[in-house]
Amino acid sequence: MRNSKLFACIWILVLGFLTGCQQNQQGSQEQVSSSLDLFAMDTYVNLKVYCEDTATAQAALQAGEVLIQDMEHRFSVTDPDSDVSRINQNAGNFTEISSDTENLIQTALAIGAESNGALDISVYPVLKEWGFTTQEYKIPEEETLRDLLDLVDYTQISLEDHQVRIPEHTQIDLGAVAKGYIGDQLMALFQEYGAESAVISLGGNVQALGAKPDGSAWNVAVVNPLSPSENMGILQIINQAVITSGNYERYFIGEDHQKYWHIIDPSDGFPADNGLVSVTVIGENGLLCDALSTTLFILGTEQAVSYWQESENPFDMILVTETGTILITEDISESFENLSTFPVEVIFHDEAS
Ligand code: ADP
Ligand code: MG
Repeated sequence: MRNSKLFACIWILVLGFLTGCQQNQQGSQEQVSSSLDLFAMDTYVNLKVYCEDTATAQAALQAGEVLIQDMEHRFSVTDPDSDVSRINQNAGNFTEISSDTENLIQTALAIGAESNGALDISVYPVLKEWGFTTQEYKIPEEETLRDLLDLVDYTQISLEDHQVRIPEHTQIDLGAVAKGYIGDQLMALFQEYGAESAVISLGGNVQALGAKPDGSAWNVAVVNPLSPSENMGILQIINQAVITSGNYERYFIGEDHQKYWHIIDPSDGFPADNGLVSVTVIGENGLLCDALSTTLFILGTEQAVSYWQESENPFDMILVTETGTILITEDISESFENLSTFPVEVIFHDEAS
């Protein structure tokens, strides 16, 4: 069961994305926006960029589409020629990879280490056993899960000199981090076309370049994870990514009538069920936000809060607990408008505050 199409539509409606071109009269310098919808990375993508003229904006979008296709070709675990597939096919030996893939793996391994293995890109065989890769869902046998978990260990992945080696019978996937990285690359690309304002949605993950042309903040809808057809709130951002991991995005209901979702806790091979139903991470670095949204979802409320308090990399977050409480970090609490009935608790750096 996948609801991502519905979410993508809602995002697009709420953000007021328009297809085609339009003149923007609000800024001191007139800018022209152009936007593009496409289906890529198994999800709906919308790109909107403001440039000095229509031709430039459309060229930027075209280049953006090519960039997405190129990146997907590197990172996709189902494309047999991708870097990731070549690593998997060549398990036991070193495989030469692009610097983009190297960046992704490096970050994923670093966050894996910081989270004590909550983020583990070698969890892929477990994800497959649950059927999340084929949508032929099933609850794995305990013994099968135990055997597969024996091979899940990010510390056994070696990365050196644009080459990576994973142990035999191991497989990796970069689904937890790829979209965030692609967002960063798109922002950099649009800047090369002279854009100072742009906003993209990659399957509900939003990233903005700068502010709107009139200088105001972008309004980003945050989905209510307990009622995903509704928005829980609106967050105002400038030059940031807003990346959510939730248990409502890709899931199935088992024969036991329980809900099972696509974010796996490597400690037991089951969908991570540590009290959170969604984690939204907000920051300037899309890759980091994507890696952290998945990681903090797995860690659960308490550990997510202490990770945030101790982290050297600045970021903000909105956690939603399974009982319907919103926890939001202090610096963004004023920028978030709560549209739900959920109580909001602010998290402070200094616990005594
Ligand atoms: P999405 O990309 O679906 O919006 P996430 O960024 O949270 O959401 O990534 C979920 C994806 O991460 C899964 O589809 C799977 O490919 C991968 N994944 C699941 N569990 C883990 C884990 N513990 N460590 C690393 N990757 C994971
Ligand atoms: Mg993620």
